[in-house]
Amino acid sequence: MLLLSSQEIARGVQRLAQAIRQDYAGCNPLLVGVLKGAFIFLADLVRALGMPVEIDFVRVATYGSATLPSRPARILSGVRISPKGRDVLVVEDIVDTGYTTHAVLTYLQRLSPRSLRTCVLLDKPSRRRIPVPIDYRGFTLPDRFAVGYGLDKGEAYRWLPAIYALEEGEHGPAPSHRRGEG
Ligand code: 5GP
Ligand code: MG
Repeated sequence: MLLLSSQEIARGVQRLAQAIRQDYAGCNPLLVGVLKGAFIFLADLVRALGMPVEIDFVRVATYGSATLPSRPARILSGVRISPKGRDVLVVEDIVDTGYTTHAVLTYLQRLSPRSLRTCVLLDKPSRRRIPVPIDYRGFTLPDRFAVGYGLDKGEAYRWLPAIYALEEGEHGPAPSHRRGEG
C-alpha cells in the first residue's frame, strides 16, 4: 500500500530543508546520516539545502525487527569527522522504538558538539519505547512497516522511489507491483 508518493516525499524534504537552512544559516553544520536507511533521504536533503554542510555517517547495530521486540542499540561504526564544537544534525530515516536514535545521540553527545539536533523523515510515535527529541520531522506514520526510499526489509525494497507499507506477512513481489490494489 502506498504511504507516501515520491512527490509527497520531495515536498516534505523541501519543507525540512527550508527550516534547517534558516536555523543553520552560516553554521556549516555536520550532518550525520544513520546507515543504511538514511542514505537516500540524506542525499536528497543536502541537495535541497543548497548550503555548505559536511557529511559523515554512523552505523548502528539494532537487535529489533518487525517481529521481535527491540533492545538497546549500539554503535558499530562511528564518525570520522570530529563533532567537537560543531553544530551536528543527525539524519535518520525513521524513528520507531527510539533505541537507535537514542544510541546515536548518546554517542555524539559524548564527543562535545556545540549543538546536537535530529532530522527524521518518518516518525512512528505509537511504537516509542524510549523518548527521543525530534527537531525536524518529515512525516508521522501509523504503526505499519514502511519500505522504499532507503528503507528495507531484509535488504529488499530500498531502491523504491516511494514509501510503501508492507502488507502483513508479505514476502512476494516488490510493493510497486501492487500499486493500485486495495
Ligand atoms: P528504532 O526502533 O531503534 O527506533 O529503529 C531502528 C531501526 O529499525 C530504524 O533505523 C530502521 O532501520 C528500522 N525500522 C524501524 N521501523 C521501520 C519500518 O517501518 N520499516 C523499515 N524498513 N525499517 C524500520
Ligand atoms: Mg535508521
